[in-house]
Amino acid sequence: MQTYWTYVFVYYSVSYFKLQFIMLRQVMSLMWPSAIWSTNHFIIRNLSSNNSGRKKLIILGTGWGSYSVLKNIDKKQYDVAVVSPRNHFLFTPLLCSTTVGTLEFRSIIEPVRNSHFRHSKDYHFSSAVSVDSRRNVLLCKSEVDESVRYELHYDKLVIGVGAVSNTFGVPGVLEHACFLKEIKDAREIRSRIINNFELAVQPKSTQEDQERLLHIVIVGGGPTGVEFGAEVYDFLKQDVSFLYGDMQKIVRVTLIEANHILASFDKLLRDYAENKIAKREQFELLQATVSEVKKDRVVLTDGKEIPCGLVVWSTGLSPRNFTRRLQFPKNKQHQLITNEYLSVLDTPDDTIFALGDCAEIKDKPLPSTAQVAERKGRWLAKYLNGEETEPFKFQNMGMLAYVGGYSALTDMKLPHGGADIKLKGFHSWILWRSAYLTRLGNWKLRMQVPVDWMKTFFFGRDSSQF
Ligand SMILES: Cc1cc2nc3c(=O)[nH]c(=O)nc-3n(C[C@H](O)[C@H](O)[C@H](O)COP(=O)(O)OP(=O)(O)OC[C@H]3O[C@@H](n4cnc5c(N)ncnc54)[C@H](O)[C@@H]3O)c2cc1C
Repeated sequence: MQTYWTYVFVYYSVSYFKLQFIMLRQVMSLMWPSAIWSTNHFIIRNLSSNNSGRKKLIILGTGWGSYSVLKNIDKKQYDVAVVSPRNHFLFTPLLCSTTVGTLEFRSIIEPVRNSHFRHSKDYHFSSAVSVDSRRNVLLCKSEVDESVRYELHYDKLVIGVGAVSNTFGVPGVLEHACFLKEIKDAREIRSRIINNFELAVQPKSTQEDQERLLHIVIVGGGPTGVEFGAEVYDFLKQDVSFLYGDMQKIVRVTLIEANHILASFDKLLRDYAENKIAKREQFELLQATVSEVKKDRVVLTDGKEIPCGLVVWSTGLSPRNFTRRLQFPKNKQHQLITNEYLSVLDTPDDTIFALGDCAEIKDKPLPSTAQVAERKGRWLAKYLNGEETEPFKFQNMGMLAYVGGYSALTDMKLPHGGADIKLKGFHSWILWRSAYLTRLGNWKLRMQVPVDWMKTFFFGRDSSQF
């Protein structure tokens, strides 16, 4: 009885505070008609954009670079429109955690419509098809109905369309392997892992079937490949024996890399990660090159075949078709070349800008990371706002990578020529989690992610298939 009344008390208290919060939002919007209260910031709205005198800024993409422009641009100076086939921002550093259910998919994405556009039609759920730089016109194709095509006029255009995974022309990759770049990829991987376990425990599965189904091959030893392996390791250690009993002993993971894993990290940290992974009983690090991916196996250049139930392909980047089609100067990797003000070379002055994985500053190559894309986006917004006149300069804050078993790597350099910080193990794992928690874009995600972590810790990963 006492529990019942406690429950009723808590329920009504929460409802009361929720009501207060909603009322506060309404009062705020009445007191300040041009602004409404959002969970993370005030935004300007209801300013007429027709004949407003404001310049029309079109941003392509909702990734690290473009989203950073959108968040920092002064909407009093620009009529901002976004064109992107992805209607959310994705916090990629935590994407691997969603493949086995350490985190839920919605905990690391932010709907782009929460950015409060001046008009609801200022977000276009479409892809950019081509740019006519003489007429300042962008051709778009709707994501919902491909037959719907339309043109948009711009005064300034920001291209931040990112890149796709590079298959290096290896046969069978597109047909049989999974990539790990978007939420839909993580969903597919999670679903394939669960399906393979369910198939393996069904009565007609032979020992051979089970060994194949429960063998995961990761191709590419960069941070994404290693972090995905780390998540699989945690799943294996913490949940598989509870969910699938004896199958735990059959699971195997092979990480194939032609050179060294985590090549961008300091040698000391790289060696630590290599030793740690090599010591794991059911894990194998294989220095080899893949020549073909088949439905149920991977073929190496030396002719060896590795039967497996899932191949995750993570071997670098290649340009999107949209970037390939653009008739602007590009480098060997087909990235758009910009000057130090991020303006695309050979385009009208200060009109077309490019940033993130699809672009490179002339003679100043930077890594294709979220860090670079986000900084460029922030710098570009300030430049367009008239708050910045110096060219873009990048100061690397360093790298973090999770290697599994509550262990991570930190390879950082303090600003202004400060000391190098090289950490590994548990302390680094605490830093890894804290760093990404603070980098999450809003308070909703900053609440959701630790709740997911706690749920996983106390109750295990959710293996529901839907
Ligand atoms: C699993 C994973 C983990 C990662 N971890 C880290 C990390 O820990 N630290 C780090 O610094 N980096 C990390 N990265 C790299 C980082 O995510 C990328 O470098 C970064 O996303 C690049 O940002 P971007 O804005 O160029 O492109 P993206 O973030 O890829 O965004 C591109 C956007 O363009 C849109 N788009 C595509 N085609 C069109 C079109 N035709 N028209 C309009 N819009 C289009 C896409 O839908 C998307 O919204 C990770 C990447 C992955 C995949």
